[in-house]
Amino acid sequence: PPVIGVLALQGGVREHVRALEHAGARARGIRRPDELDSVDGLVVPGGESTTMWRLAVAFDLLEPLRERIASGLPAFGTCAGMIMLADRIEGGVPGQQTIGGIDMTVRRNAFGRQNASFEAPVEVTGVDGGPVEAVFIRAPWVESVGPAARVIGRVPRGDQADRIVAVRQGRLLATSFHPELTGDTRVHRLFVDMVKG
Ligand code: GLN
Repeated sequence: PPVIGVLALQGGVREHVRALEHAGARARGIRRPDELDSVDGLVVPGGESTTMWRLAVAFDLLEPLRERIASGLPAFGTCAGMIMLADRIEGGVPGQQTIGGIDMTVRRNAFGRQNASFEAPVEVTGVDGGPVEAVFIRAPWVESVGPAARVIGRVPRGDQADRIVAVRQGRLLATSFHPELTGDTRVHRLFVDMVKG
């Protein structure tokens, strides 16, 4: 099975490890640059993107992460992890940097107070068997994608219907929501299949 690292600086690491193992991968936390060399793919979990960015800088991980992803390491970011994989962000704190890789603009904390947390059934292109029950927690949305990126999921209804919440670009995947929290591992399976290539 492919070995998939979960960036373990901060956030929902354990839930991703569990979901990846259910989806047929071997998973382990990653904290040091050299650990990146021994994985076939990387998950960037949810949590807090400002903290994750600061810790990535402090642990000398930001540049190695950028290099590995630029040279083709498959990666999957959820929520704060989606922010980390975005080439451009809005609503970041001053100076906030990302790893980047996906040609998209992501807005932090986009859904606002009324919708700080909610669930919705989201159809994800490439995931068979009906919509996934998407859990949003102070989630970002995708303002726009460039030509290289493909929208694969949108909010189905309500005030924010059609907002982009899942994107794929080659072997990079990002969701605004948290598939690791539901027990439905189909999105992780999609990523494991992308890693297997
Ligand atoms: N609001 C958080 C951020 O900006 C993301 C929330 C999450 O990952 N659940 O990083």
